[in-house]
Amino acid sequence: MSIYKLAATEDAGSKGELNATHPWILPGLENCVGCGATWATTGLQYPCVDLSAVPEQAMYREPRAEPHDALARLTEQLRPWMPPGILLNPGASFGPMTGTARGRFGGFHLPNPWTLCMRKEALEKLSSSGVQGLQGCRINVRYRGTQPPELFELQLELHGSFHRDCLPAEQPPPCERCGREDIPLPDPYILDAATLPTTTDVFRLADWPTLILATQRFVDTVRRLELDGVVFHEVPVR
Ligand SMILES: [Zn+2]
Repeated sequence: MSIYKLAATEDAGSKGELNATHPWILPGLENCVGCGATWATTGLQYPCVDLSAVPEQAMYREPRAEPHDALARLTEQLRPWMPPGILLNPGASFGPMTGTARGRFGGFHLPNPWTLCMRKEALEKLSSSGVQGLQGCRINVRYRGTQPPELFELQLELHGSFHRDCLPAEQPPPCERCGREDIPLPDPYILDAATLPTTTDVFRLADWPTLILATQRFVDTVRRLELDGVVFHEVPVR
């Protein structure tokens, strides 16, 4: 099984600028009483999960960090509103991105390495070609210029683990209070084949959610359709 990491192209010809954020965010953890860290997980983005019906939604508007007890209350308050498969870690963000856009957009656009956006036409072509796991949410953009692009952010599931061969033999145990693991990204990293998904062709690595990965079918289809704005780097799998 071949797996590829997605990255933005350096091609200046398809350089759109998207400046947009998610409307709601679960705060980070402030000064964990166990490990002392203030932290949030980057890459947990759920644009299709709309919190506008949550009565306390205003409490999730401001990015910030909160102490353990306050964060636990905010987390439990959201849980009944979550569809299956959502990881409610500190820093998880929700709802359709809103902001401004300018320039020319390719079929794909990654405003940062952990956010995957597509033009509507490219997403439709990819969907109708049998690629699995494409859940798009429309981005609300004000566009400077004519012909505003219709942009969607993909909501990606979490799947897959690192293979033990690429992890240090001795790892510090996770914090007993907050569960935080203080390990760097293995270099190079290897994926554990047994943990990879069979029902989706594009996903986030559960062990490292800022990594967006795709299957051979995804890569082959993107190349056949000649969709631009993204490059693929093969990742070792064992
Ligand atoms: Zn901790």
